[in-house]
Amino acid sequence: MLGRRQAQGRYYGGTGDPYSRRGRGMGTSRFKLFLILGLGMAAFQAFKYYTNTQLNPVTGEQQRVQWSTEEEIQLGLQSAPQMAQQHGGLHPDQRAQDLLDEVGRRLANTPTARKSKYPYEFHLLADDKAVNAFALPGGQTFITAALFARLNNEDQLAGVMGHELGHVIERHGAERMAKSGFIQGLVQSVMIGAGGDYSMAQIANVVGQYASMKHGREQELESDDWGVRLMLEAGYNPEELITVMDILEEASGGSRVPEFQSTHPNPGNRRETIKKAIEKYEQMGIGK
Ligand SMILES: [Zn+2]
Repeated sequence: MLGRRQAQGRYYGGTGDPYSRRGRGMGTSRFKLFLILGLGMAAFQAFKYYTNTQLNPVTGEQQRVQWSTEEEIQLGLQSAPQMAQQHGGLHPDQRAQDLLDEVGRRLANTPTARKSKYPYEFHLLADDKAVNAFALPGGQTFITAALFARLNNEDQLAGVMGHELGHVIERHGAERMAKSGFIQGLVQSVMIGAGGDYSMAQIANVVGQYASMKHGREQELESDDWGVRLMLEAGYNPEELITVMDILEEASGGSRVPEFQSTHPNPGNRRETIKKAIEKYEQMGIGK
């Protein structure tokens, strides 16, 4: 609960804060009108939240997600440049980016990832301080130079990105945002062209901040499971995902708190999940 409050505080006070910047020059009546429209929209969204579920084409799960796949993709594409900006922009090393693309393509071309129909893209960020990787809804995925530089081989890179693909396939971002009526309504009203004073760029900013927020435990472990599965399907060695946990743990010993640590649960428990997943999928004959 505390974590949630803090995160919301960060949202309201963050660079995407729609109130502090927009509140000043706005006439009262216009504000009221916007408020009424907003409340109506929020009520509508709340109704939709409890009545609308979608079938995930990959997992077969019924999920509380109101966005269509198409909306997720649009939103992800809109938010990606801002996401990159928050981490010093894209990394200038084209060879490193090419390697990331190559590994990403192999993961995205696995039978399971292809079923999800997202146009996956992989971005190497210039940030050499924050050890992190994350994904936006709709298939935009990112890794910072700080984490990239700590990895020793392609298998480890595949492990990190496979985990992020897991978040996309499971629609974790959309699921999380579906729980926030405000953001949901905001996004939807922009989508239908009634966004008031909010620009798509501001929405994108908010979505971006959500993407770097803490995931739930369950979601993290689920994504590790996906990481293993996609690694096996793509012909990578899934044991290397366990080594990634060592690398993350080591990184957290430094003076800087790595962001991956704050957004991802304790690597100790994740190792167990990964080992179990390897056993499970090998028994199923995945990747053979
Ligand atoms: Zn994660």
